[in-house]
Amino acid sequence: MKGSGKFLVGGNWKCNGTVDSVRKLVADLNGADVPSDIDIVVAPTFLHLGMAKDQLKGPYQLAAQNSWVGKGGAFTGEVSAEMLTDFGIPWVILGHSERRSLIDESNEFVGEKTAYALSQGLKVIACIGETLQQREANQVFEVLDAQLTAIADTIADWENVVIAYEPVWAIGTGKVASPEQAQAVHAHIRQWFEEKVTPEVANSIRIIYGGSVNDSNASNLAGQEDIDGFLLSLDIRSAAALHPSHQDKISSRL
Ligand code: PGA
Repeated sequence: MKGSGKFLVGGNWKCNGTVDSVRKLVADLNGADVPSDIDIVVAPTFLHLGMAKDQLKGPYQLAAQNSWVGKGGAFTGEVSAEMLTDFGIPWVILGHSERRSLIDESNEFVGEKTAYALSQGLKVIACIGETLQQREANQVFEVLDAQLTAIADTIADWENVVIAYEPVWAIGTGKVASPEQAQAVHAHIRQWFEEKVTPEVANSIRIIYGGSVNDSNASNLAGQEDIDGFLLSLDIRSAAALHPSHQDKISSRL
């Protein structure tokens, strides 16, 4: 861990959940003994945020999985950053690769969304990452630099930003980046901040890793110098695995 603050674990529920499964998951989380030295950010669907907010106890912080690029209004189907802050949601995940690829969110759009969310008082987990094709074409740093630049073009203050490096080829595939691969990219990202932003931001920003993190690989990844946390999908269907008797799983599967 190099960034300042606590090791951050984000649990992305993606487009999963039913009233029953959320109730069960929340009960399991409430029964868990979460170590005090990690920040845990839980990101349910918009529909389940209210339930999670009402029922979750303890150290969990809530995130939305997306927010609109500007002030709310005639944008059917969207949820604005000011609605999230008004509702008491402190975090938002932006630029997830599923939105970049499936909904065509461009680097610039993610940059604008980040700026707007921050302006409304949200903290942002900004996701970046390369596809397998880009990795094989040796374009990893180029791709990440472009994604970071688009954010840097819109914001000056990085205090409330966490960068999630999620190689697209590792998300939900079971193919995790090796600790060395992940460390090399995280070090590159930190170096980018050193050169393009400031050494202070490079030293303080949290850079978390996402992509097939699980119980068996979490501790090796977490031991890497520049890895400051994880973003992982919380498989709502396997909430039973989060029972308090499996507390070792809490830090790696939330
Ligand atoms: P995964 O997803 O843990 O299923 O790889 C991570 C993510 O999409 O944030």
